[in-house]
Amino acid sequence: MGLPARRMRLLFGLDMRKAIINTAVSACLSLAAPNVFSHEPVTEARTPINIPSPAGLVTLKCDFHIHTVFSDGLVWPSVRAQEAWREGLDAIAITDHIEYQPHKADVSTNHNRAYEIAQKSGAELDLLVIRGSEITRKMPPGHLNAIFLTNAAALAVSNWQDAVTAALGQGAFIFWNHPGWEAQITNGIVRWYAEHTQLLEQGALHGIEVVNGREYYPEAHRWAIEKKLTMLSNSDIHSPLNMDYHTHAGDRRPLTLVFARERSAAALQEALQKRRTAVYADGRLIGEEQYLAPIFAQSLEIKNRQITLKGKQQVLVQIANHSSLDYELALAAELEQVKIPKKLVLAGGKTVLLRIAGKDASLKGARKLSLPYMVKNLLIGPEKYLPANLEFDITFVPTPAK
Ligand SMILES: [Zn+2]
Ligand SMILES: [Zn+2]
Repeated sequence: MGLPARRMRLLFGLDMRKAIINTAVSACLSLAAPNVFSHEPVTEARTPINIPSPAGLVTLKCDFHIHTVFSDGLVWPSVRAQEAWREGLDAIAITDHIEYQPHKADVSTNHNRAYEIAQKSGAELDLLVIRGSEITRKMPPGHLNAIFLTNAAALAVSNWQDAVTAALGQGAFIFWNHPGWEAQITNGIVRWYAEHTQLLEQGALHGIEVVNGREYYPEAHRWAIEKKLTMLSNSDIHSPLNMDYHTHAGDRRPLTLVFARERSAAALQEALQKRRTAVYADGRLIGEEQYLAPIFAQSLEIKNRQITLKGKQQVLVQIANHSSLDYELALAAELEQVKIPKKLVLAGGKTVLLRIAGKDASLKGARKLSLPYMVKNLLIGPEKYLPANLEFDITFVPTPAK
């Protein structure tokens, strides 16, 4: 049985009014909600670091010195994996202090736990996470990082020599941290102690931090070369990454570049033991010429190597730099035949113009010319720059004298 027509109209009218009100309310809500935020939240995105690899090897970007709340850091371990992935790293080592845990009233002492948490997060991101510890002692020997540990808790012993022995027993790679740290040097002098010789002789010192955070230690650079230690460059970061490094503005933490046979923890360890590393910090690369030279050469694409110079005219050469590194070229010697800039920055990811002009309008014929530059931000020794010779085939066409 149907309702009387009048009742029907009344109901219909009420429903219509309700519907109109509901629509108005939801319209207000739908207007309000998207206007709360003016932009999308920060995207979970990785920024690749393009650095070519020497022949047969792969260049891995690594930071082997990182702290978390499990010692004196201010960050939960999983965040360390996220930060590293976003910054374009391949591997990190979690290296909390064994002897110093200022947060232990809130975060219980467990020397393996920070690694376990970071490793789980790293595995989801295809980031290699290495188990490490910082053996934190007064100078000498100062602070030592032991990485590729199997059980960090075994390093919690009173005597530092016993901690080193325990790390060695686990097959660890051991390096001297921040040898020039102000708090552990006297009168500004960075010293190599008998204890370091002793460690070196017993095969218990494999590497040295040439760079720690924002500091470069020329002494450590020299020792690495003289004593055949692996060069490292690490952040030693305690704060959230973006508090110490303006990563959104192109700044980055210092990195150890490892030239490994493949992208795996075992290959990393092998490469570190064989000293196949370079330092990448503050826009500089520091390392052996055998690694820096191919990185530089492979970064560049010179679009026109065959050029013709008519008299004193100028020709523009396009040089593309496909890497993420900026190369700061400085002329090593003037040339008789051509005029070239004294300085030239080959910016990463850009194509730059090199202006070559003739010097002598009477020159005639084809010849090979090598433009003798050096790369001021690629160091093959303290204050020693990578030579970079840009090769060209130049045909000189004389022009009549006016
Ligand atoms: Zn330290
Ligand atoms: Zn540290």
